[in-house]
Parts: sequence; structure tokens; C-alpha cells
Amino acid sequence: MGREIDVIRSQLARNHVTVLTGTGRFLDPHTVGVVDEHEREVKVTAEKIIIATGTRPARPDTVEFDDHTVIDSDGILSMREVPESMVVVGAGVIGIEYASMFAALGTKVTVVERRDRMLDFCDLEVVEALKYHLRDLAVTFRFGETVAAVQRRPKGALTLLESGKKIPASTVMYSAGRHGMTGELDLEAAGLTADARGRIQVDKDYRTEVPHIYAVGDVIGFPSLAATSMEQGRIAAHHACDEPLRGIHHLQPIGIYTIPEISFIGRTEDELTQQQVPFEVGVSRYRELARGQIIGDTYGMLKLLVSPETRKLLGVHVFGTGATELLHIGQAVMGCEGTIDYLVDAVFNYPTLAESYKVAALDAMNKIRRVERWEL
Ligand SMILES: Cc1cc2nc3c(=O)[nH]c(=O)nc-3n(C[C@H](O)[C@H](O)[C@H](O)COP(=O)(O)OP(=O)(O)OC[C@H]3O[C@@H](n4cnc5c(N)ncnc54)[C@H](O)[C@@H]3O)c2cc1C
Repeated sequence: MGREIDVIRSQLARNHVTVLTGTGRFLDPHTVGVVDEHEREVKVTAEKIIIATGTRPARPDTVEFDDHTVIDSDGILSMREVPESMVVVGAGVIGIEYASMFAALGTKVTVVERRDRMLDFCDLEVVEALKYHLRDLAVTFRFGETVAAVQRRPKGALTLLESGKKIPASTVMYSAGRHGMTGELDLEAAGLTADARGRIQVDKDYRTEVPHIYAVGDVIGFPSLAATSMEQGRIAAHHACDEPLRGIHHLQPIGIYTIPEISFIGRTEDELTQQQVPFEVGVSRYRELARGQIIGDTYGMLKLLVSPETRKLLGVHVFGTGATELLHIGQAVMGCEGTIDYLVDAVFNYPTLAESYKVAALDAMNKIRRVERWEL
């Protein structure tokens, strides 16, 4: 982290960006007051302003957080030891990422989620594979369950569910959504408002309702990912400075750092079915690739969703080692409007996981040709 901060600080310095450390708030639509650690306020004015204050974990009023036994994702950073057991409340991306990390470290994890499914924006088959994997690491899932109370006890906490179940664990980690960091900004002084979850509304150029003020990143909501937030910032800066601009690309990758990783781009099978878009599926399993066998990944898979009419990629879904890296090959093909013909004809280095694109493309191509033959 130290090195990453040094790199960014030196990039800012090289580009003549002044950094004022402190808490900023609007004094009027063109003035921001920055209060430093000695409570001194510096006033800065600007023609254009970009808000990128991010989010903080949402903390339900009914739960007493103590940053030790009952924590949120920020609290994990100050943990002194790996807990023997943990209840994770909320099976969103962050909850499941931490559930899989602690399970891999040997913690007995129970995940409690109000809904019947988790990660419902991902490919169903991939999520099923992840659940299977996590169960194998002794993770217990409690779907369709709501936490009624968390009671602190000498050795940890007792989580009481509305269904009457009681779960003892050394640590309870809440991962129940995030709240925009707009509380300290005095948005009214700038003529702005935030919604009930602290988020700011923007248009396609990331302009707020006050045209010279932009907002980007997690403070505007979905998808709340680092790479997307950076791109939004770049676009807002270009727009603010009247630089030429093409807008954000419609294809945005999703990366989930569970163990194993999940990554995808484009649409899921469920979405395509709902939208009545016909598709064929091409699958490649890591265990059938030389590289998969070398690294001992027997569960990984790559799935291509392909239009049978145009043979273009409609979605790419990867589960397993290096998924978040591997996905970008599919993103490049999709972004350039490529077809599976390219992947079938291309030669990939051997042995690589990238070969899975050729295998999955051949699988999809064979299925498409079979249908075509039957139609003759
Ligand atoms: C546990 C966790 C894991 C994640 N993992 C991933 C991942 O693997 N990949 C990925 O792409 N994304 C991940 N994300 C999301 C990613 O961190 C965010 O999308 C990204 O940091 C958003 O950038 P941002 O600039 O909008 O906000 P932030 O990075 O939150 O930065 C906002 C900054 O503004 C400061 N600030 C707030 N209010 C004020 C104020 N009034 N005055 C001055 N400063 C202020 C804050 O202190 C903070 O430094 C993760 C998030 C969490 C919580």
C-alpha cells in the first residue's frame, strides 16, 4: 500500500496537482473549505469541481459495532489474528470475497443472506460452482434468513436469526451495503442533494444538477469498482476541460476476488433469455488444458455466450485461476466486434489458460453447425 501511495503521489506531483489534506465541504457552488488536522480551514475556489468522496460501510442502528468482535469490512484491516469462526452478514461481493478468504485461512464461516440467491448479476452456473467450492471449505450458507440481533459474549458474539437459529462465532462481519460519503460535504451550499443512501445523481457526462460540478466513483453508485471509477473520473475531467471525448465504453468488466476468482463481461444467460436473444454456449474446462493440469486447477472454466446468427460474443464468463486477467482477451474481441471465427482460427501459446478461448469457441462453433445442419 505504501508503494502504491508513493507512486500516485509522485504522479500527481509530476502533473502539477496540488494535494490539500483535510476534510472538504462546500462553502458556495465554487468554493470548497478544507479543514486540516489542526482544525485550520483553507478555502479554495474553482471553475469546475469533481466530487469523488466514495462510500463507507453502512452500519445498521440496531447493531453495536466495536471494531473487534462485531466489525465491518474496514474493521478487518485492524484485525490482530485470524478468527476461529466468523459470521458474515450479507452475501454481496465484499461479503463473499471475505468469506472465501477467511475460509481459505481455516476460519469456520457462516454466511447469512436475506435473499435466496447470491451474486444474482453473475452467471448462475459460475455462482453454483463457487458455492460448491466454499461448502467444500466448510462454509455454511443461510439464505432467506434475516439477522434479528447480535449479542456480544466473552468469547465472541451470538448471532440470532429471525427464524430462531443462534450462531456462535468469534467475529461477526457486517457487509450490508455501503453509504455515499456526502454527509460532511454541505451539499446544500452548492445547491446539490444526495439520495437516502448518500448518493449523488449524474448525467452521462457525470455532471450533477449543478452543471459545473461533477461526481464520479462509488459516490454515484453502481458498479462501484476501482477501474470504472477511474474511467468515470477521466471522462469527467475531459468534459470539464472541453477535451475531445467518446464517453464510457458500454462493455465494462466485473472482477470478483473470491477464491477462486470470478470475472465476466457482457450479458448472462438469464439476461439473454429474458431479452429473448438466442445464444449458443461454448465451454472450456481448465482440467482439459495442459496449463490447467500443470497448475492443478481442476475446477476452472471459461464460458462463451455466442450469437448463432452473427457468431459475435454476447458474454464471457470465467471462473478459476487468473479469471480476472483471462477475461480481457474476451473483452478485446467483444470490444472490436470480433466473432468466434477469429478465436477458432487463432493460434494460442501452449500451455496457457488462454487456450481455453479456442476450446470454448470450437465447442460453440460445433453446436452452431449442428443446428445449421439439422435445419437444412
Ligand atoms: C472491501 C472492499 C474491496 C474492494 N475490492 C475491489 C476490487 O477488488 N476491485 C475493484 O475494482 N474495486 C474494489 N472495491 C471498490 C473500490 O475500492 C472502489 O470502487 C473505489 O475505491 C472507488 O473509488 P472512489 O475514488 O470513488 O472512492 P474511494 O476510493 O473510497 O476514495 C474516496 C476518498 O475520498 C475521501 N473523502 C471522503 N469524504 C471526504 C471529504 N469530505 N473531504 C476530503 N476527502 C474525503 C475518502 O477518505 C477517500 O480517501 C472494493 C471496495 C471495498 C470496500
